[in-house]
Amino acid sequence: MLIKNARDAEGRKIEVLVRDGVIAALGLDLEADGGDTLDAGGLTLLPAFIDTHTHWRTPGFEYKEDIATGSAAAAAGGYVFCNLMPNTKPVCSSAQIAAAVTEEARRVGLCDVHQTLSITRDFDGHTLDHLKTMPESVRAVTEDGHGVQNNEVMAKAFAICAEKDVVIMSHAEDSDISPWDYRLAENIETVRNIHLCQYYGTHLHMAHVSTKEAIEAIQEAKWKGARLTCEVTPHHLWFDDSVCQYRVNPPIRKDYDVEALIEAIKLGMVDAIGTDHAPHSAEDKAKGAAGMVGSETAFGVCYTKLCREKGLPLSTLSELMSAGPAKVLGLENRGRLALGYAADLVLADLETPWVVDPSRFHSKSRNTPFEGATLYGRVKYTFKGGRMTYKDEI
Ligand SMILES: [Zn+2]
Repeated sequence: MLIKNARDAEGRKIEVLVRDGVIAALGLDLEADGGDTLDAGGLTLLPAFIDTHTHWRTPGFEYKEDIATGSAAAAAGGYVFCNLMPNTKPVCSSAQIAAAVTEEARRVGLCDVHQTLSITRDFDGHTLDHLKTMPESVRAVTEDGHGVQNNEVMAKAFAICAEKDVVIMSHAEDSDISPWDYRLAENIETVRNIHLCQYYGTHLHMAHVSTKEAIEAIQEAKWKGARLTCEVTPHHLWFDDSVCQYRVNPPIRKDYDVEALIEAIKLGMVDAIGTDHAPHSAEDKAKGAAGMVGSETAFGVCYTKLCREKGLPLSTLSELMSAGPAKVLGLENRGRLALGYAADLVLADLETPWVVDPSRFHSKSRNTPFEGATLYGRVKYTFKGGRMTYKDEI
């Protein structure tokens, strides 16, 4: 397949030739090589997106999302790979559950996955046996939805993961403190986990960083050479609590937190955008469930906020949504427009504004505070390994 008449992140004309699912040539005046030709009509060509933080709710909560609808939502948002969280029912503490989820995603075929395991077995807060026996296919573990409260348990988890070279993803929340001060709860657990990262040399990935203090602690540790990466979510970049009190963990923060996160992005201190796509039924949401769907709005939200409003180069946002997450997750030959890399591609319209209409989501859930928002940056096509996984019909 040849894609003609596209533009790169800098706005220059570009063509890409795909052969056997791989980028075979990039440039101008390429020959079609006997395959199909797609005229991109001036759309912007980017490497497809990789999400470090996704909830597809399988097993156990398929009424919120399942692997088919989660995959479709991801593809519609330009994603070809999602890193799935383990707060399912049962909790994903075993390689068997992870293998079943991965196999089902492969069968659906729209989006590749890595299924994380929980840090403590069944989120019991202390048992680590399953980490000692986990197979090499497990690249990352997390207690997402909770922090690990006990310092000794977390220290031992860092030691095991250092030895096995597995990433610890941290949902930083001290749950004794969060009921009365969620800012302190995030900050204190961030600092503890950074200390353990430096002490053991384990790769630590801080999920959904949301406070000024947390991102500054991460910056300082990075300057000192810690084996530390971090992600921020689209919603923590878009909203502050003067305009939105939508329930999400960590909560929507202050305006100065938003500015600190954007400043950290400009300084190159943030590795990835993670959506924290967290589908809930209307009933669960009404009962106070935390979180929002995010796969289908992430690019529009980030492009509008960071690039159009804050002047961030699109190439930098592209890094945060593709190459950066690939590096965090240890994915080889994915996340870049480069020869020999997987032909994971997005064609996006940057010029036409669109209004978020949850009734059109591919996700099973509709919980979003972005309803009615006008965004720029819409995914028109997604390709995974050269195969079209999404085409916008609007
Ligand atoms: Zn979380």
